[in-house]
Amino acid sequence: METSYIPPLEFAGTKVYPGEKKRIEIPISRLPTQTWVSVPVQVIFGIKPGPCVALIAGIHGDEINGMEVIREILRDLDPQHLAGCIILVPVVNIFGFLHNSRYLPDGRDLNRSFPGNSKGSMAARLAHLFTQEVLKKADYAVDFHTAALGRMNYPHIRTSIRSKDGLALAQTFGAPVIVHSKTIEGSLRQAAKKFHCKLIVFEGGEVNRFNNDVIQIAVSGVWQILKKLKMCKPVKKRDMTTKSKVAKSSTWVRAHRSGIFRLFKNLGDHVTQKELIGVVTNIFGDVISKVRATHDGMIIGMASDPKVHKGEAIIHIAKFS
Ligand SMILES: [Zn+2]
Repeated sequence: METSYIPPLEFAGTKVYPGEKKRIEIPISRLPTQTWVSVPVQVIFGIKPGPCVALIAGIHGDEINGMEVIREILRDLDPQHLAGCIILVPVVNIFGFLHNSRYLPDGRDLNRSFPGNSKGSMAARLAHLFTQEVLKKADYAVDFHTAALGRMNYPHIRTSIRSKDGLALAQTFGAPVIVHSKTIEGSLRQAAKKFHCKLIVFEGGEVNRFNNDVIQIAVSGVWQILKKLKMCKPVKKRDMTTKSKVAKSSTWVRAHRSGIFRLFKNLGDHVTQKELIGVVTNIFGDVISKVRATHDGMIIGMASDPKVHKGEAIIHIAKFS
């Protein structure tokens, strides 16, 4: 039987051929102690032709839910039953991961440094390496994030709903909410657009921990994408995907007073404009400020640290109309 030739993919000088499942260390740089630091990458190259999908986590080193999503997906991938190629990167910002930090040791945010520069800052160099070695090979990608330190996010996809491809990919993923958002300068998402990779951003949970509900929704979402792209059959387990609600925008409610914040609602709850959704109290519990919803919508993010300062963003509400 005649089979069409599929050329190998090359990562940091290592070739991966169809039918192979290979782990590769992409060297970044040496530590001051001269030890090499590298980004570990797993490549699953199917025996049949198909698209290339990158699953990317830990661009922010302390956001580790995506790492667990990738580990779970990886267990059930077999190149003998795969069309196309999957590149899995559980942690991109290795430096931040080791130090429970969003940032690189130079204090820069990797997700503001793409597509990078081989002669630039530490963040720019890592961004450049990642762009060349992974992003440019991918036709589709999911970039996994959580809320930043001190906050929690309800599982949602961020994409431009004006992009037909972005919206379709987000709807296939099937997270509870899709939130329209513009691309941020220097983000991986912006670089993906430049290199014609269809990328969606998954947001859910909080830093430095595994939020199991969030992880299971994301795992189901990835299987749905692989199924839709006709790359493989999803493993038989409970499908957590749903018909996503599409939010056109989102805004943060800010604290009017400094104090201790108590939210009466949960992530994912619907709220109506002017509804009392929480209070700011002093440390003895006396209410000093009432917190009301600024508009109708759904709570998709909240401060997880009850100590709040005047002006601090405390509740993130998605707007559907
Ligand atoms: Zn992030």
